[in-house]
Amino acid sequence: MPVEQVDMGGYTLIENASLANRNTLRVAARATLLAEIRDASKLPELLDFPAVRNGRLLVLGEGSNVLFTGDFDGTVLAMETRGVQVESDGDSARIAVAAGERWDDFVRWTLGHGYAGLENLILIPGTVGAAPIQNIGAYGCEVAEFIESVEAWDIRECRVVTLDHATCAFAYRDSLFKHEPGRYIVTAVRFVLPRSRPLRTDYAGINEQLARMGVDKPAPFHVAEAVVHLRTSKLPDPAVIGNAGSFFKNPIIDAALADALKREHPGLAVWPQPDGRCKVSAAWMIEAAGFKGIREGDAGISNRHALVLVNHGKATGPQLWALAEQVMHGVRDKFGVMLESEPVVIGAR
Ligand SMILES: Cc1cc2nc3c(=O)[nH]c(=O)nc-3n(C[C@H](O)[C@H](O)[C@H](O)COP(=O)(O)OP(=O)(O)OC[C@H]3O[C@@H](n4cnc5c(N)ncnc54)[C@H](O)[C@@H]3O)c2cc1C
Repeated sequence: MPVEQVDMGGYTLIENASLANRNTLRVAARATLLAEIRDASKLPELLDFPAVRNGRLLVLGEGSNVLFTGDFDGTVLAMETRGVQVESDGDSARIAVAAGERWDDFVRWTLGHGYAGLENLILIPGTVGAAPIQNIGAYGCEVAEFIESVEAWDIRECRVVTLDHATCAFAYRDSLFKHEPGRYIVTAVRFVLPRSRPLRTDYAGINEQLARMGVDKPAPFHVAEAVVHLRTSKLPDPAVIGNAGSFFKNPIIDAALADALKREHPGLAVWPQPDGRCKVSAAWMIEAAGFKGIREGDAGISNRHALVLVNHGKATGPQLWALAEQVMHGVRDKFGVMLESEPVVIGAR
């Protein structure tokens, strides 16, 4: 089918667009209309087209946290805006970053300019605009700690809004944006980053890696280097095999249930939470239930990391989702805990 493409100045519209190269699970899917946005000020104009206004909308960054289980019958807004602006500088800096900037590029930029804080979050795929959506986190740090505010187009109110840190309601892999899906289009994120701060190295092998690197007085870029090493040795690379990182969230359960599970399964990792509940290791339960490394056709669970759903080649979205559900049900039957998917599952209506 011929694909119509029109440059509107500030954004490009593509009809019946393929999304296969726009999701890291490399699932084939199409959008009725794709809008590649390079200028956020054009959003009101774009959103006013009747076909866009009256249909479904999906904002897409790099597609590293989505699973398409069908075509998208609506408009996909691909955020491709760019720009990093230092608004004030001193012991710490306020930095506003356009939603379409690549997260990892921004982290490296901060390290190159002598700012601390984001070193543990290096190498996470995706865009800056998506970072607050699930409050990205890794190696003991979460991005929320460094976000002062989020600028967004509020579809309900038809205006630009600035949402301060408290309003964003950040929590573990969670935020306001997940609770009001489809309401906000994040256009920029404002960070506050110090010139120096205590480093977080006591998590998941960072200290040991620093020792192997021969570093005894680490700077932020040393920690970043250690994290890059750890991540590349553990996580499959989406450029080599389709995946969306951790597909299953670590469930947060009542302390009583966590105690009972720990008594029955002493190997289960349990992390007490500030609210009295406990986070338990999804990876451990998936492996103990026998799912690590399994494969159904081209859909699989990585043999390197039990949380990672992988596409060995031509798996479809429904095939990947069927395998994910098989894992969730298997873990529920064995441990009485229902896992949830971390990526957003997007299907036909
Ligand atoms: C190999 C690998 C490793 C990963 N490791 C980690 C990790 O360590 N920690 C972690 O937290 N995540 C991790 N992820 C998940 C992913 O990288 C992050 O969730 C990332 O923030 C997603 O960015 P994206 O631009 O690809 O968003 P997308 O996948 O395109 O979108 C994700 C969700 O955010 C919404 N969204 C995206 N941009 C906007 C916007 N501008 N405005 C409003 N809504 C928007 C989408 O509608 C969708 O609901 C990993 C993924 C992969 C593939």
